[in-house]
Amino acid sequence: MIIDSQDTIVAIATAPGEGGIGIVRLSGAGAEQLLKEYFIAAGSEALLASHRLYYGHFRHAAGELIDEVMAVIMRAPRSYTKEDVVEVHCHGGSVVLRRIVDLFIDGGARLARPGEFTLRAFLNGRIDLARAEAVIDVIRSRSEAACRVALGQMEGRLSRQIYGFRDNISDLLAEVEAGIDFPEEELPLADRQRLITTSSNIEQQMEVLLQSFESGRLLRDGLSILIFGKPNVGKSSLMNTLLGEARTIVSDIPGTTRDIVEENLVLKGMPLRLIDTAGVRQTIDPVEVQGVQRAQAKVAGVDLVLLVVDGSQPFDEDDRKALQACNPARTLLVLNKQDLGTSSLPVGFATLPAVSISARNAEGVDTLLDRVVNFFSRDSGSEGRETTLISDRRHREALLLARNSLELFRLTVSNEQPSEFGALELREALQALGEITGETAPEDILEKIFTRFCIGK
Ligand code: GDP
Repeated sequence: MIIDSQDTIVAIATAPGEGGIGIVRLSGAGAEQLLKEYFIAAGSEALLASHRLYYGHFRHAAGELIDEVMAVIMRAPRSYTKEDVVEVHCHGGSVVLRRIVDLFIDGGARLARPGEFTLRAFLNGRIDLARAEAVIDVIRSRSEAACRVALGQMEGRLSRQIYGFRDNISDLLAEVEAGIDFPEEELPLADRQRLITTSSNIEQQMEVLLQSFESGRLLRDGLSILIFGKPNVGKSSLMNTLLGEARTIVSDIPGTTRDIVEENLVLKGMPLRLIDTAGVRQTIDPVEVQGVQRAQAKVAGVDLVLLVVDGSQPFDEDDRKALQACNPARTLLVLNKQDLGTSSLPVGFATLPAVSISARNAEGVDTLLDRVVNFFSRDSGSEGRETTLISDRRHREALLLARNSLELFRLTVSNEQPSEFGALELREALQALGEITGETAPEDILEKIFTRFCIGK
């Protein structure tokens, strides 16, 4: 996919469907020529200045009018891809957009693959890989907090930190390599100690970044919440009430199995994935044989369990079995049906954080949400704003590798092993960091990353 970057590529850059305007984007050496073939600026200006929007007509070679449009050329290297980029802003209907794209293809352009514009920006050195990846996170972010993190990464916040590590490790490597030339001379103790201190300082900074993964992941993917409990306690009612409260329901994704319904929504500014077990009432019913085991597996995969009980009735064996399946550190007890009265909390339940609600009357739901928000901010901290967060599993893995290599490097120094061994570990660390910024990322990784993009980005 990487090789054929000589072509001029074209794609619709705006979202599918009807819109006020639609934008077709071209990138490559042939972009300007292609524009001139079909676009005539009003006032018949022959020379189009860079980064200027021109009003005019887009016509078929035979003269037929396709649309009234605005067109802009952004000449290399001052463009998104560092190549000549052309945008044609036309009326936002799929027919017009398609005809414009088809004409450009007839003229010699090729339809862009998903993410190919951003891939070119990366290959041409305008942005590094971590920043390119953040573009997709900005587009996909479902809450302001997540968007802020993604924007920070797109602006190069994470990359700067990684480059900092890289420079420090390169300095270490230079020192160690100098030692390789004089193998018979042992490194003085003071020098060895300095190498060890420098390395462990870098490791500590990496550790801070690694620790941020959980917050970053929660912000990006949302907190997953399982509504759990024996039948008839009001789980579906609660789910519906929460959905009703939601300002935005981001998407309605039927789960991977037909039993589970997952809803992505934003409540009080935080992204949530609400998992409804209403459809799996039978399979998750704790009274069933193996029920507890199944429930445990289910519960283990989520960030927070809302354990729903009928708070107006005495607790029974089924409630206790449901409780057994939960991890108390990640469980919030929801005492439902408070409109029917309250019964006392037995041992085991009494120690859990609890909220009384009436799902039917939507009472107490606001308090419930506040508790969830608290739980969320306990995990994600108030960081988001200033601190750099990592939210990508790939970045985390690479950073772990780098940190482990540094640890091994330190061991080679304290064990007075030959410098070659230490140098080897430092090179491994650099290699791992390079996978985050893209300098050493293999082609299959690039392919995987950029195919996550939409066409036109
Ligand atoms: P699920 O089996 O846990 O999903 O429970 P449902 O949401 O289907 O509710 C079971 C029954 O309890 C239904 O008849 C609901 O109308 C009723 N119910 C749910 N929440 C409340 C509540 O807060 N108060 C009262 N009085 N009834 C409720």
